[in-house]
Amino acid sequence: MKRPLITLLILCVCLISGGQDLQYAKTIIKDLCSTEYKGRGYVGNGVNQAADYLEARFDQMHLRKFGCNYSQRYSFPVNTHPYKIRCDIDKEAKAAGYDFLVDAGCPDIKGHYDLIHFNTKDSLDKILLYKKIEKGFLADDALVLHHQSYKDKSVYDSCKEYGHFPALFITTEDKKLTHTISRSLNEYPSLTFIDSTILNKDSMEIDVKHEWIDSFTCKNLMGYIKGKKTDSLIVFSAHYDHLGMQGISAMFPGASDNASGVSMVLYLAEYYSRHRPDYSIAFLLFSGEEAGLMGSHYFTEHPSFDLKKIRFLINIDIMGNAEKGIVVVNGEEYRKQFDILKSLNDTLKLLPEVRIRGKAKNSDHYYFSEMGIPSVFIYSDGGAGFYHDVFDVANSINLTNYENVAKLLIGFVKKL
Ligand SMILES: [Zn+2]
Repeated sequence: MKRPLITLLILCVCLISGGQDLQYAKTIIKDLCSTEYKGRGYVGNGVNQAADYLEARFDQMHLRKFGCNYSQRYSFPVNTHPYKIRCDIDKEAKAAGYDFLVDAGCPDIKGHYDLIHFNTKDSLDKILLYKKIEKGFLADDALVLHHQSYKDKSVYDSCKEYGHFPALFITTEDKKLTHTISRSLNEYPSLTFIDSTILNKDSMEIDVKHEWIDSFTCKNLMGYIKGKKTDSLIVFSAHYDHLGMQGISAMFPGASDNASGVSMVLYLAEYYSRHRPDYSIAFLLFSGEEAGLMGSHYFTEHPSFDLKKIRFLINIDIMGNAEKGIVVVNGEEYRKQFDILKSLNDTLKLLPEVRIRGKAKNSDHYYFSEMGIPSVFIYSDGGAGFYHDVFDVANSINLTNYENVAKLLIGFVKKL
């Protein structure tokens, strides 16, 4: 319980010293990625503990509330794996998160299995695979599909067609494991391995237990700073949820995605709390993004203020490594605003590049823009590429150009 006190002290020192500096952002990122918030997911209620921490930050900056409090609640179903995961390959223990991932929608699986291997990139192996599916599996057959992403459902569909399923599906990735959140429970157990970990191995001993949650309650957080003009609003948003934990040891800290974006929203809130803006500015922190934009979708259907008042919304997701600059999703849709942002950067020479992209359903701006609300999603370009894995830790992000991004956004808002 030492951390909150230390955090409070550091944040107070930053605020008292007028410390609009990188240390403030670093502290927020480090705290959000600590084991205390369990990867801001569903295991151990990490996401709601992070919400409490962030509400305290809103309170500390005296942000105004739209209603009686900073939060709104909503729920959705989610599958989790909160218990100890055991997996031995040829009697050697393997680690969830590092050697393999239990797929997010995986049900329970326990027992000893024989690994039967097929290389999905080899045409002869492919013929043999479909022959095997046609003939059927033994009760302890675990089907290993090398070089096939878990997203590829063609083998699963063939199994369905013949009514012959293996006890367990295993797919492999060459280099990296990428985790997700599932709002449904899969019919059959499935795992994804780093290919070299399972290649040419014979057997697997596994014990995975899932916990299905019918209705997990999350919070969206909303606060604002009153501007000189109150007829319309600028909005900064970011999602604070991430993937949480798998088992008792694999934590997904989500430093880049999206502790970094949350820290930027708080950094800007801190700035505007000391420099009164022209237009009122709302700061929205969503949950449920990784589960499929659940929080922002709920907010657009149950807004805490009139959404028509939004002059412009800037969603920030993945803001840890801007050494190459930033990318603006929806820049094509809002060309006028994009051009303002780009020419401001050209004049001030803050970032190497401000790149344009079209429409994409890839973060919390999406449901706003679908309603015709002018909105963009900005992410940073650069970094080591840790994404939805256990390596996206606070120390892995460099915060290069972080303050320049903030300067650019502050200048941009002045011109809107
Ligand atoms: Zn994200």
